[in-house]
Amino acid sequence: MMERYPRFTLHLNHIAENAAKVAGLCAARGVTVEAVVKGVCADPRVAGAMLDGGCASLADSRVQNLAFLKKEFPTVPRTLLRIPMKSELEDAVRYASRSLVSVPESVAALDDECRAQGAEHAVLLMFDLGDRREGVVTDAEMGAFVAALKKASHVTLVGVGVNFGCFAGVLPSPSALRRLCLYRQAMEEALGYSVPLCSGGSTSTLALLESGELPAGVNHLRVGEAILLGRDVSRQRLVPWLRQDTAWLEAEVAEVRIKPSIPEGESGADAFGNLRVFADEGPRRRAIVAIGRQDVPAEALEPQTPGIKVLGASSDHTILDVTDSAEPLAWGSRVRFSVNYAAMLALMTSPYVCKDNTD
Ligand SMILES: *Cc1c(COP(=O)(O)O)cnc(C)c1O
Repeated sequence: MMERYPRFTLHLNHIAENAAKVAGLCAARGVTVEAVVKGVCADPRVAGAMLDGGCASLADSRVQNLAFLKKEFPTVPRTLLRIPMKSELEDAVRYASRSLVSVPESVAALDDECRAQGAEHAVLLMFDLGDRREGVVTDAEMGAFVAALKKASHVTLVGVGVNFGCFAGVLPSPSALRRLCLYRQAMEEALGYSVPLCSGGSTSTLALLESGELPAGVNHLRVGEAILLGRDVSRQRLVPWLRQDTAWLEAEVAEVRIKPSIPEGESGADAFGNLRVFADEGPRRRAIVAIGRQDVPAEALEPQTPGIKVLGASSDHTILDVTDSAEPLAWGSRVRFSVNYAAMLALMTSPYVCKDNTD
């Protein structure tokens, strides 16, 4: 059979190992872990590896992925991570067991939809504690949610949640998470029923767990990046107790040639509107690999062969300087790259990239 490239390979056992380590560390502190699978486009083998490793539930930001996960894992709870659009409530109720909410109108609308479908739905109320993405900003807003939830007959509040490190890059702090714990308690008292979950964030919150600073009331985390890649982009770190050899990209060389390192002729913008300046390093050996910005951002690729540098990319071509490559490259050679979260997300979504996995 023809080997197709570019090829993105996920190492399932290594991902399961990471899941077991994260779930184990969390369990020791009374925290359950939800496996976030949007980074791998809800690939069922990866989701399975994360569940095998000890994650309690699955989460994705897209209802299409949740529909797919419902078929693959009918008994595993599924969380919709993106606050739902009005136009997708029907699918949210149908395919998710619970959703994150941040506007009171969505509670009433979810309740109506549940009644129409004869279904029940759980929600986590999101608080913006600094990152300035979704969520309630002031305590004064909580009253509207209490009213909406008291009126609802098919929607229950199961928890409160927060995001860090997503829009503004704000890191989680013990004081912000203590506030979240108080909000959980306040909602429970106002509603008169148990609100069990205090969902204190994602991969970026693991550092507080490691240092023993996670407030005791936080009992739930939604984790993707740390399990899938052993990385924490918000702190620009490789998580030392996790594996990073969980995924790699192979792209095929379509041209190798010595070329001047500076362009010739009057310069305008590149294919993506950027004006670029090049240093004159004399003639250099360069390789073109057949993958481009349509599939992956070039900045997110890390060549595994020492001496190879990524120079840039257009839609379909990524240009490498291979003059100092530790391995010889020719037309038809393959180059391996480690990837970050942004690269994995894009690669798993591109129909032009062959997805592969190994045990
Ligand atoms: C993507 C996402 C997560 C997971 O984040 P990681 O950094 O991959 O652990 C958690 N919560 C929400 C709401 C998300 O959208």
